[in-house]
Amino acid sequence: MKRQPQNPAPDDARARRAVRPVIVYPVETLPIPDMAEYFAAREELTVVDELIVPPRDAVCFHVPAGHFFRILSVEGPQVGDLNLWNTHDLKERFFSGKTRALHGTHLSTGDQLWSNLPFLRPLATITHDTLDWYGWDEDGGGVHDVIGTRCDPYTNAILGGEEYHHCCHSNLIRALASETGLSYAEAEPHVHDVLNVFMCTGFTKDTHQYFMKGSPVRPGDYLEFFAEIDLLGALSTCPGGDCSSGHSSDAATCHPLKVEILRPLAGPPKGWQPAKVSPYSGRHHSGGGI
Ligand SMILES: [Zn+2]
Repeated sequence: MKRQPQNPAPDDARARRAVRPVIVYPVETLPIPDMAEYFAAREELTVVDELIVPPRDAVCFHVPAGHFFRILSVEGPQVGDLNLWNTHDLKERFFSGKTRALHGTHLSTGDQLWSNLPFLRPLATITHDTLDWYGWDEDGGGVHDVIGTRCDPYTNAILGGEEYHHCCHSNLIRALASETGLSYAEAEPHVHDVLNVFMCTGFTKDTHQYFMKGSPVRPGDYLEFFAEIDLLGALSTCPGGDCSSGHSSDAATCHPLKVEILRPLAGPPKGWQPAKVSPYSGRHHSGGGI
C-alpha cells in the first residue's frame, strides 16, 4: 500500500505516467488448447467418483489425466481453496503467481492452471464456469481469483486473532497428511497458494488493497476442469463461508462443497496429449552445465 509520498513529483511526472502499458506476458504464442474438442468431450460425462468436503475442513481427491472434475456448490454459498499436485511427484504443484501473470487475476473457461518451476506446464484447463456471467462488478471484483493466498493461522496470529486451527492452510495440511501418510510438519511445505474457487475479490480503487465480498455462488453452480496430467487435488471449505465478512474463525456460516470426478464417455478431446514440461534446458548459464 502506497502511503503519503515523501518526494515531490518531477516536472515530467505527467509524461512518465502517460507511457503506454504493455502486457507483460502476451499470450498470443501460448499453446492454446483446442476448446472446441474439450467442449465436445464434455458432452457425455459419467461420474466415476464423488466426495463431500465438510464445512471448515479439506479432502484430497485423485483425477486421472484425460478426466474432468467439478467443484459444486451444495446447500449454500461457500468458497473453496484448491491445491493441485502432480500425483506422482508432490514437488510439482500449482503456481498461482505465474498463472495470474499469464491469464489475469481471475480465471474462467479456457484458462489453464500452470505448475511451478522447473516444470511449468498446464495441470488443468477450466472447461465450464456457471458463474462466467458475473464478469467484473462496479467495485472491480470478479470470481475465482489467483491473487489471494489462503487463510492461515500465522497471519491471523500476527493480526491479533485468537489461535484458530481450521484456516484453509491448516485444513489442506491435514488433508494432505491423511492422504499421503506424511506428518503435518512434512506435509506443510507442500501446501501452496490456491485458486480461490467461487470467491469474489478484487483490489480497492483507492489503496489497491485486496478485498472480498459475498460470493454470488448458489447451490447448483460449479467450476469444471480437465486434468492435463494425473492430479492429486485438495479442496478446503474456507471458514469464511461465502467470505462476506470475516474468516479465520467459527463466526461465518459455512457449507459443504462437492467434488465430482468425471470420465468422458467418448474418450479425451481429439488430438489431446498429456501436458509436457517447459522445453527450457535448465542450464541457467551460457557456459553450459546443469
Ligand atoms: Zn480460507
